[in-house]
Amino acid sequence: MKHFDFEEERLQQEIQKLGVKRVLIQLPQGLKPEATRIAKIVEKTGALALISADSCYGACDVAVNEAANLDADLIIHFGHSKFVKHESVQTIYVETRALINTAEAIEKALPLLYGYSKIGLATSIQHLHALDDAREFLARSGKTTMLGEAKHIGYAGQVIGCDYSNVRSIADEVDVYLFIGGGIFHALGIALSTSKPTIVADPYDNRAFSVSETAQKLLKQHWACIEQARNAKNIGVIIGLKLGQKRFEDALRVKELIEKHGKTAYLIAIREITPDCLLDFPTIEAYVNTACPRISLDAPGKFAKPILTVNEFMVASGEVSWQSMLKKGLFEN
Ligand code: SF4
Repeated sequence: MKHFDFEEERLQQEIQKLGVKRVLIQLPQGLKPEATRIAKIVEKTGALALISADSCYGACDVAVNEAANLDADLIIHFGHSKFVKHESVQTIYVETRALINTAEAIEKALPLLYGYSKIGLATSIQHLHALDDAREFLARSGKTTMLGEAKHIGYAGQVIGCDYSNVRSIADEVDVYLFIGGGIFHALGIALSTSKPTIVADPYDNRAFSVSETAQKLLKQHWACIEQARNAKNIGVIIGLKLGQKRFEDALRVKELIEKHGKTAYLIAIREITPDCLLDFPTIEAYVNTACPRISLDAPGKFAKPILTVNEFMVASGEVSWQSMLKKGLFEN
């Protein structure tokens, strides 16, 4: 896979420097085909390589329990930047920068940016190095660009699936956002977090497109879920079991609020939240998801019952209005 930088040399040096004996390799879905090649590189250092075949969608899910189970003394986590404050097993993050050219896709975005002068730029960890060239190109085209820089995210302009505080920090100053990267996932996150027009420059498909219409449709679905959840008497409060998704205190607060409204709350601990696993609780009429908010956000129609983010639940319970939640964002704290 020539499209990404796996930093093989740095990895070997770090493994040797640390003198570790067992290394657990963790890759997100799209990068898993590289696992066997990386295992060979690890074993050249004399360490034993173990490949995690479990799903991994974010750096919230560093496989510390699995590593402890296997007596691994190092985890190498690919494809994300550090997200959790502390890992109980030492962890090296390989951000896996994309080696793909983004210029053509950005050029294709230009007609869609017509009429907007101030552009908020955003990207995922894979394309951060493309931001400087993008800024230069857009400046030559008469546009002003801005990068948001909220303090707790690693890099200016970076977005994470559940944290758009960088783009939100400049929402009052820009007319539109341009997201550089593949697919619709992050662009939707930006549009739903800021209520601003959002354009994608996708270097993988070499095309540019707007996600604003999709975001509007999704918002309507979310409103319908909130309305449905208002009538629920038995509500499941989901606690995520992945390292960076466990928000026990939030779940307890939600439970308390549900009970304050005279309803019944059940705490449900899940590692992988899927539509199927929630079918096992037929008496529960709605869920509040304190784990990965993107499970609630991206495909509400996939679930048989409403599965609200905590912010949406605050609307359903009458604690805040829909409008003020939209200002805060559907899912951000
Ligand atoms: S909680 Fe969800 S969106 Fe956030 S990093 Fe984890 S998988 Fe990604």
